[in-house]
Amino acid sequence: MKAANRDFTRAMNQFNILNTIREVGRISRVEIAEKTGQSRASVTNITAAMIREGIIREEPCRCTPSRGRKRIMLVLNPEAAYVVGVKISAFQVSFAVVDFIGDVKSSLVMPIRVSERDEETVADFIEDGVRHCVEDARLSMEDISGCGIGVSGFVDSAAGKCLWTPLKDGTSHIRSMVARRLGVDTYIENDANSVTVASQWFGQGKGIDNFLVVTVEHGVGMGIVVDGKLYRGATGIGAEFGHVVLVPDGEPCRCGKRGCVEAYACDGNILRRARGVLSRRRGGKLDLDRLTIEDVTRMAKDGDAGLRRIFREGGTILGQGIAGLIQIFNPERVIVTGEGVRAGDLVFGPMRRAVKKYLNKEQAAVTRIVVQEWNDFDWARGAAGFVLSELYKSPLDRTRLAK
Ligand SMILES: [Zn+2]
Repeated sequence: MKAANRDFTRAMNQFNILNTIREVGRISRVEIAEKTGQSRASVTNITAAMIREGIIREEPCRCTPSRGRKRIMLVLNPEAAYVVGVKISAFQVSFAVVDFIGDVKSSLVMPIRVSERDEETVADFIEDGVRHCVEDARLSMEDISGCGIGVSGFVDSAAGKCLWTPLKDGTSHIRSMVARRLGVDTYIENDANSVTVASQWFGQGKGIDNFLVVTVEHGVGMGIVVDGKLYRGATGIGAEFGHVVLVPDGEPCRCGKRGCVEAYACDGNILRRARGVLSRRRGGKLDLDRLTIEDVTRMAKDGDAGLRRIFREGGTILGQGIAGLIQIFNPERVIVTGEGVRAGDLVFGPMRRAVKKYLNKEQAAVTRIVVQEWNDFDWARGAAGFVLSELYKSPLDRTRLAK
């Protein structure tokens, strides 16, 4: 075998072993050999190197041995590497430092009107936030193996390019600007795709080969995992579920079309429509310019019928769209998440009813729809998870052990 082939085979074997440990959590060498189909000698060899590098470590089995000595299990070393995730939103940038197993060590949310600042200023701002967050986790930049940036829009992550983002209505060069400032490997990925990869590696999608993630916030995003792989489509841009038109000539959307899913279901458009309803009411004392989506959600939950109708319509359109997705992809699970989850049954009750109404029974039976709680730093954690998934592919070259 040529040296290059041998290296490749070893790298693949190593990736499979690491992946097996990540999926199972605690596992013995014998079980790894069984699961990966590699010889015990190869598993012993490769795991020895990974233990020396501090990527994994041995732990005695918690089970009580029936006879002889305790079995030795292998687990990931959370301290093997740290990465930082950054999510750029319209009105804020959020940060999270995570360890090798995806646990958040520190997080930070900083308000900034991104579209009103030039990119160099936003990059300076991100640099400050990252350094602050790393310090907060009691680490130094030397300990950071990579940085991931999540942004909405069309991102060619392999080329490291953001082709279009609604945040500046055009191309963004933020990745290279941040990379230059931080001096670490920096990736950029569509925000919904990052959250999808993070749920595949560390969350609700772990161990599931076919699932969809729908994110509801300022926009409506989507990630698709088919046969265990993130589906990117022909151009690498991937899915734009938010801009599928379901209501011909319906409500206006920021993409320039009318009747998109996003025009009904996302925070921005629910807020816009709520302002419209409230402005037509006589004797209203509300300052509509200062009205937030949180205010509108609270008023609807308190029983405002006009506002409840807007949420209900959003949920119904979302459900109609998701029924179509299930019809096409036949996924095991659909994970709905994002800030929009705050609306609870206002949106997700009608959404579930619409899915049921528009889906064939046979398909409805196999797909579970999970509405997943959302934390402020989940976007940033997603962006970090994307970096980790890259890191796992060649950990011996890329991890920098934290001292
Ligand atoms: Zn649109």
